[in-house]
Amino acid sequence: MREIRRIQDVDVAGKRVLVRVDFNVPMKDGKVSDATRLVSAIPTIELLTGKGARVILIAHFGRPKGQHVPEMSLEPVAQPLADLLGVPVDFCMETVGEEAMAAAADMADGDVLLLENTRFHPGEEANDPALARQLADLADLYVNDAFSAAHRAHTSTEGVAQLLPSYAGLAMQREIDHLVAALEAPQRPVIALVGGAKVSTKLDLLNNLVKKVDILFVGGGMANTLLNAQGVKVGKSLCEKDLVDTARAIIATAEETGCKLMLPSDVVVAKEFRPNPETRLTAVTDVAEDEMILDCGPATVVALAMAMEDAKTLIWNGPLGAFETPPFETATVAAAQQAARAVKERGLVAVAGGGDTVAALNQAGVSNDFSFISTAGGAFLEWMEGKALPGVGVLKQARGVAA
Ligand code: AMP
Repeated sequence: MREIRRIQDVDVAGKRVLVRVDFNVPMKDGKVSDATRLVSAIPTIELLTGKGARVILIAHFGRPKGQHVPEMSLEPVAQPLADLLGVPVDFCMETVGEEAMAAAADMADGDVLLLENTRFHPGEEANDPALARQLADLADLYVNDAFSAAHRAHTSTEGVAQLLPSYAGLAMQREIDHLVAALEAPQRPVIALVGGAKVSTKLDLLNNLVKKVDILFVGGGMANTLLNAQGVKVGKSLCEKDLVDTARAIIATAEETGCKLMLPSDVVVAKEFRPNPETRLTAVTDVAEDEMILDCGPATVVALAMAMEDAKTLIWNGPLGAFETPPFETATVAAAQQAARAVKERGLVAVAGGGDTVAALNQAGVSNDFSFISTAGGAFLEWMEGKALPGVGVLKQARGVAA
């Protein structure tokens, strides 16, 4: 596997460097309400400015669909970013074209310039070569530091990277290095925990993991579909009965590849899905017709903890129960704390990601204890599904390398 090119290996002094960042930040009343994504971009920006580069930042914001939508301007990002960097950040109301060219030409070493939302141009999502050329004309080098957008072959993530010497920024490298350590070249045994609502949304994920990991634990609503395929009656539980054949195929693949498939043995059931209903703990084989499975039981958590004990690497996506509704967060929280302990006590490599997973691990209070928690959403999932990410692939190709 060809390595990604890393920006810290390059002499950038006096060069104009086009840096693709993820500034798709939450905003409230026209102001940045959570600066986490800006903070993630700081190390790469400071690495570059510290070496005397001229940093030109590009990013998308929202879904303006190729139109100029004033509410989706990146302008409100410039000041909070300047505050974090402790240096001024110029904002250009154009992404490409004369004004952008003039702003880029005007920069001194160490300056930072933020360009307008790339998605104001229809060519961005179409990966239009003409827009890529215009972006490339602004700079000498290209850096991608937005892993979360790397699953999309857009102009700012892929097209422009074909035209300039292109490198991965520090945040991008951190993400890729952890994902490689979790899935491509992991220390074995590897255990994967997959939960969440439906098998149908995670088919590719299950099919990939079952071929790559040593133990696959499936919990959450999606376990019901696999249990049902094995003849277990799941009552009123969330269950995709039309996926019986698909579920059986996953179970068969696990047998072929020697992946140990683990499903809940005991579950917490209720007749109503609301906060704090009357619940019952039961063997998974004893769910009544009017009950639904909403969490894994303690015996399952113990079995999972024992399986984790032997593992050197853990991959986690999806909650083990309906964690937003008490008390159905119990198994997810217990398993998360178990994993966090193993990270601290014996160096388990624990990598997690996916929207609800991040929320569930926050709720368990372990977000700082895992080796890595990806907030990249779609890009994280596509990597876990074994798909090629165009924005990463282009940073490995021979094209675009500095002579
Ligand atoms: P996903 O987006 O596929 O990871 O699914 C996350 C959602 O699955 C969360 O909103 C959970 O509440 C839900 N979920 C997990 N387990 C169950 C379950 N046993 N029954 C119903 N919903 C569940």
